[in-house]
Amino acid sequence: MLNYEELNELAVEAGFSRSAPLKVSTIELKKEVRDMCAVNTCNHYGKNWACPPGCGTLEECAERLKGFENGILVQTTGDVEDSMDFEGIEEAAKKHGENFNRLYEVLRERYPRMLGISAGSCSRCKECTYPDAPCRFPDKMTSSMEAYGMLVLDVCKKNDLQYYYGPTTITYTSCFLLGED
Ligand code: SF4
Repeated sequence: MLNYEELNELAVEAGFSRSAPLKVSTIELKKEVRDMCAVNTCNHYGKNWACPPGCGTLEECAERLKGFENGILVQTTGDVEDSMDFEGIEEAAKKHGENFNRLYEVLRERYPRMLGISAGSCSRCKECTYPDAPCRFPDKMTSSMEAYGMLVLDVCKKNDLQYYYGPTTITYTSCFLLGED
């Protein structure tokens, strides 16, 4: 059984604003979310091993979730002036990515069977090798919740975690599925 109090302490130590227990059974992988990736508003579709179509089909993503029952959701909330404050939005995204990488290393030591699912494309390398060569760090590469077909708002709601914290804030959400064996 996971010790959520300790996991929350680790998440906050890594820099996250908060964490919450995650029941993997609440996660639905939706084709509509993957279809939104294909619209390519983020400009990463087809350019990164962690994003569709490089990250595999919805069925392949579902296969990776098998065998996990519990985990944690983690969030980084940043302050912004308004929804056009791109500098603030970018700063919060960067901070969330750094928090994610820090906690990833800590949890990997404790949970050899772990699946970290991030926000945004994988940015471990300055330039992704997709599609010309295999991923340089397949054991460290992480896909986003959206790339898995998860509607983040829906996952938060089903796990009693707030998703929106007001007009002068921006929140990024990721999750870690933790094997308990
Ligand atoms: S680790 Fe590097 S090569 Fe692999 S998905 Fe991430 S950026 Fe691309």
